[in-house]
Amino acid sequence: MTEQQELWIGGRWATGAGVTTTVVNPAGLEPIATARLATTVDVDHAVAQARASFDAGVWSGAAPAERAQVLRAAADLLEKRQDELARTLTGELGCPLWFSERAHVPNPIRHLRTFADLAQAHTFDEEVSDGANRSLVIDEPVGVVGAITPWNGPLSSPAIKVGPALAAGCSVVLKPSVEAPLTVMALGDALAEAGLPEGVLSILPGGTEAGVRLVEHPDVDKIAFTGSTATGRQIMRTCADRIARITLELGGKSAAVVLPDADVEKMVAAIMPMSLVVTGQLCISQSRVLVPRSLEAEVTEALAAAMAALRVGDPLDPATFLGPLVSSAQRDRVEGYVDLARTEGATVATGGRRPDDVPPGYFVEPTLLTGVTNAMRVAQEEIFGPVIAVVAYDSVEEAIAIANDSPYGLSGSVWSADPDAALAVARRIRTGMVSINGAPQAWGTPFGGYKQSGIGREMGMEGLRAYFEKKSVALGPAVG
Ligand code: NAD
Repeated sequence: MTEQQELWIGGRWATGAGVTTTVVNPAGLEPIATARLATTVDVDHAVAQARASFDAGVWSGAAPAERAQVLRAAADLLEKRQDELARTLTGELGCPLWFSERAHVPNPIRHLRTFADLAQAHTFDEEVSDGANRSLVIDEPVGVVGAITPWNGPLSSPAIKVGPALAAGCSVVLKPSVEAPLTVMALGDALAEAGLPEGVLSILPGGTEAGVRLVEHPDVDKIAFTGSTATGRQIMRTCADRIARITLELGGKSAAVVLPDADVEKMVAAIMPMSLVVTGQLCISQSRVLVPRSLEAEVTEALAAAMAALRVGDPLDPATFLGPLVSSAQRDRVEGYVDLARTEGATVATGGRRPDDVPPGYFVEPTLLTGVTNAMRVAQEEIFGPVIAVVAYDSVEEAIAIANDSPYGLSGSVWSADPDAALAVARRIRTGMVSINGAPQAWGTPFGGYKQSGIGREMGMEGLRAYFEKKSVALGPAVG
């Protein structure tokens, strides 16, 4: 059992003022660690160090190439610990080890390198002339960043905030969630060893109270938040008081639009990971599948068979496709939605129960809901579990309308034998990301949502720009 008795404050381990929590393996229910949680006093302490380091220019004033070098060295150090980090991550989250090894640990490391490269190549100072006057347009770091992250990407969410913020020259106070307080701490050690100056980064796992304090803190210039739309709404209200900058990455209810000429077999195989990886606890999960009525029976049957065949169980077993949900609260939520689906008149075509022959834990079978109309709450609200709802449509126009009939606008997909027809539909879907026939997003392209799925974009150059302020310095008359 790991004893994580300290927080990472200003570049070193420090005993916080708060209590510890016991982290329980969601697949087995045995305690795996104790972890210190931050209080509002710890937040104040960390923000003070971040502010002082930012204002002193120890990092904000460093050359972009120097900052990039520190990020690259930290990525190298994390890479050496990949196996250990993947096991820790699977232990706290419950996602299969193969997914931690292939995505949840290597992707954050790659993000650090990408932001290092982008910052090093970026032109921070640009002289502009209108023929009469010259100005210098400067990209400056936005200041002290409060980063707040959820549990479902324990290292990814932090890395796509800490990476660009540090690359831009900001100081950062990161508050990860209570549910996943372990893997993320590796960022502290790696960045300190790589040469990040003292004061610049704090990592404070903690609950709502610590998050609220960070959002309210007058010395925090920007909040970068990933989490639920409900929390994002509260954060936006608080930030409005002092016009603090915000980036919000929020919930989703993404639609997979299956066009009449789609290859059903290929679509079903590809949609399994797109909807169900991390047991459906992914913001971009394709949780609604929209099918032409002519294909409804065929698609439903194929989806039900594929879902029933998925191996649910011990996340350390390489044959496991679905682990448990992260917590009993999350399982209650998912089971509540399955009950609601029945009450609303939908059919549970497969799943809906707790599986047999699995370790003690928060497991729920992959569940297919059919006979769903888009007005039902199970089609409108984010379930965040291994549940797919099938909604039938009568025309492509109606499919597009159903896809867009959602408060969310994060992701989606279009499935067709005709890539041009698929792209035409993708252009009309009001979401930040759309996949054609399950294609993965190119690395470094913008990630984020329309509507109540968020504000701003992460990843790539858009993600780096989110940590800049623009300054125009008037230099004088144009010469020549
Ligand atoms: P959550 O909103 O409950 O919590 C997220 C984080 O915010 C946690 O660290 C929590 O402690 C903190 N928090 C809670 N209340 C707060 C408050 N009032 N002020 C400040 N901080 C507060 O979300 P969750 O249940 O941990 O995560 C699941 C949600 O995250 C889902 O809705 C999912 O779609 C979303 N998500 C979105 C993306 C994206 O990129 N769009 C990625 C991952 C997860």
